[in-house]
Amino acid sequence: MSHPFPGLEHLIPADATLQKLAGGATWGEGPVCLEDGAVLWSDIPGNRVLRWHPQDSTPDAPFSVAVQPSHFHNGHTRDDAGRLYACSHGERAVLRSDDAGHSWHSIATHHGDKRLNSPNDIIVARDGGVWFSDPPYGLIQPHEGYGGEQEQEGCWVYRLDPDTGAVEAKVCDLLRPNGLAFSPDETTLYVTDTSKSHDPAGHHHIHAYPVSGNDVGEGRVFAVVDPGLPDGIRIDAHGHLWSSSGGGVQVFAPDGTRLGVVDVPEVIGNLTFSHLEPYLYIAASSSLYRLPVSVRGARF
Ligand code: MG
Repeated sequence: MSHPFPGLEHLIPADATLQKLAGGATWGEGPVCLEDGAVLWSDIPGNRVLRWHPQDSTPDAPFSVAVQPSHFHNGHTRDDAGRLYACSHGERAVLRSDDAGHSWHSIATHHGDKRLNSPNDIIVARDGGVWFSDPPYGLIQPHEGYGGEQEQEGCWVYRLDPDTGAVEAKVCDLLRPNGLAFSPDETTLYVTDTSKSHDPAGHHHIHAYPVSGNDVGEGRVFAVVDPGLPDGIRIDAHGHLWSSSGGGVQVFAPDGTRLGVVDVPEVIGNLTFSHLEPYLYIAASSSLYRLPVSVRGARF
């Protein structure tokens, strides 16, 4: 029998099937895995954060509502200590939770003396630095935020220093920076540009930047994603890049070669590897999906 995911034989078991865990969201984004096996993810237009847990989920109630109103949380991640991080369109802030998502507090609201646009996606490096993208989607899309004026000169990727709280711009050459991920050795930062979302001629690219210390060098186009957009991305422990798109999860080798695609019947917002079990969780439009995999994530 042929493998169900051609080109991905070394990354996905031959008996793997895509499992739909929950439907009922409006636009799913920002999945993150918790210590107890739960997955939190954002329903951005629904203005809520949802929680799925294998022991609590039933056919009638596949998920519970963890935060409502969420003030339009978007991306989530966690750090090595299990603290959670969120990007808030509505609060124009980066948030942290030290109690598994029950309460959230702001850790960044400004760059310089100007408010952030609407933080979108977020990762935490091994040194504790918090990297996040800041496109204007929460300002320009009425169903994904409270509106407001853009104060920043551009849409940039920032690093929040864990010791000083300083917010420093690191990537300033993209139109709509969105998803983020580091290579396993953290010497390459991948950032997606989703400017095609509001401009048919816009970008739907993944860019790669060399990183030395916390300095970011000149970027290059790593891959162009079709159909749709590369919203959220993640890297596995061997350096493969797993990208959301309008047509499934697209998997790229470290050299940018597209290896294969996992078909998903809805447009994907974001994805994350579990640190507990060999699963990839996928937030796709109305639903949360899970795919058994043969690799672990490089990070969360
Ligand atoms: Mg995003």
